Amino acid sequence: MVLSKTASETDVSVHSTFASRYVRTSLPRFKMAEESIPKEAAYQIIHDELMLDGNPRLNLASFVTTWMEPECDKLIMAAINKNYVDMDEYPVTTELQNRCVNMIAHLFNAPLEESETAVGVGTVGSSEAIMLAGLAFKRRWQNRRKLEGKPYDNPNIVTGANVQVCWEKFARYFEVELKEVKLRDGYYVMDPEKAVEMVDENTICVAAILGSTLNGEFEDVKLLNDLLVEKNKETGWDTPIHVDAASGGFIAPFLYPELEWDFRLPLVKSINVSGHKYGLVYAGIGWVIWRSKEDLPEELIFHINYLGADQPTFTLNFSKGSSQVIAQYYQLIRLGYEGYKMVMENCNDNMAVLKEGLEKTGRFEIISKDIGVPLVAFTLKDHTHFNEFQISDMLRRYGWIVPAYTMPPDAQHVTVLRVVIREDFSRTLAERLVIDVTKVVHELDLLPARVISTNTIMVTGEAGEENDEKVLFAKKSEIETQREITKAWKKFVMDRKKMNGVC
Ligand SMILES: *Cc1c(COP(=O)(O)O)cnc(C)c1O
Repeated sequence: MVLSKTASETDVSVHSTFASRYVRTSLPRFKMAEESIPKEAAYQIIHDELMLDGNPRLNLASFVTTWMEPECDKLIMAAINKNYVDMDEYPVTTELQNRCVNMIAHLFNAPLEESETAVGVGTVGSSEAIMLAGLAFKRRWQNRRKLEGKPYDNPNIVTGANVQVCWEKFARYFEVELKEVKLRDGYYVMDPEKAVEMVDENTICVAAILGSTLNGEFEDVKLLNDLLVEKNKETGWDTPIHVDAASGGFIAPFLYPELEWDFRLPLVKSINVSGHKYGLVYAGIGWVIWRSKEDLPEELIFHINYLGADQPTFTLNFSKGSSQVIAQYYQLIRLGYEGYKMVMENCNDNMAVLKEGLEKTGRFEIISKDIGVPLVAFTLKDHTHFNEFQISDMLRRYGWIVPAYTMPPDAQHVTVLRVVIREDFSRTLAERLVIDVTKVVHELDLLPARVISTNTIMVTGEAGEENDEKVLFAKKSEIETQREITKAWKKFVMDRKKMNGVC
């Protein structure tokens, strides 16, 4: 039997996958192709190109969840075609989001009466949550200034220079000045005293970070609250606090329940947390909780009814998936307080293993704290032969993604390597990483020697001959080469902007 040409060509199952014409020809990259291709071919082509992405589980740069239980994966896939915004059509999904808001509000000690429901909303992540919280502060401040008959066109926020980039986005997109408290050598979070000094009548809020992105350290929200209470009393202002608990909001309640950083402090009016960080859900979910209804100006809430009943909404986007909300609810009921506590304790134990291993090499200074987000931030003690960027680069060859970055002003001369410990970063991996870092350091110890000898040979053209002049030249070249490498790396990082791959 002779197959017609079209039949044999379109049916990829007839040919070897990789010999079929769809996989053999190159696809236009920036223009849509004229013709369709079979689904098997499309799958294979995309699947294979994606193999070149890093392995998310070995991406130690990110706080964002890379593993969930298969049962939850099933729930996620089952809800993948559900638009969250159709609340009237999917009332149960809406109900689950409301339960999450209430559970998280209680976790943050919101002052709620027995039957009172919490005020908050699920978002795409902490960035959207922070935009919403920021807008609420801006509007409240403007309303108050209008009432007092004072100008309201020059709002500002006080933060540390260690803020995550989303605060800079908020400031630029919504025209609020960001007043940053500078860091200093050995002190990499916002100094509460300096922050309160910076507060003026135009300050819409002071943003404290629970779990600095740079070294995981918790800022002293209690001290900030107490100092600000004093200042408000003196000045008659009403400056509130927002806590950016993107990473620490699911750590502190379980590991340090006594630590007062949340709604127990009277000036804390709103808190955001990333469900997709230590909330243990895949990327795409965050939460913002307000202390009370009064802290969320009514005029920011939209009431829509064209999809069914009246729905109050306060989000930046309209449509979005439902899976992440459902996955968050899964984690909250599946793990409970006990489960979250165990996961966080395990992260802390693995952090200790890594920290001790790195300290044992004698080459690093650890700049993360024992109390904070479970991560290890470290820096080289000696920079004469190589730097942190080279370590980061060499670790990639072993499959590890460990970012290196420079600190914000005034500590920009400090370069840091950071390993985030997530739920799925097991003890075996922690031990393995210590071994690989040690190997990389030894390799780098040997590297300059190789660089010098090639340079010497290249310039003199007389390999193997030894004299004082050449040794001198070699030394000079070693230092220069090192300087060049450092310079090139710094430029590379600066070009990629300050928060490269750190989230
Ligand atoms: C990750 C992070 C953010 C941004 O959160 P997304 O959920 O990624 O949008 C903001 N602030 C801090 C402190 C963070 O760690």
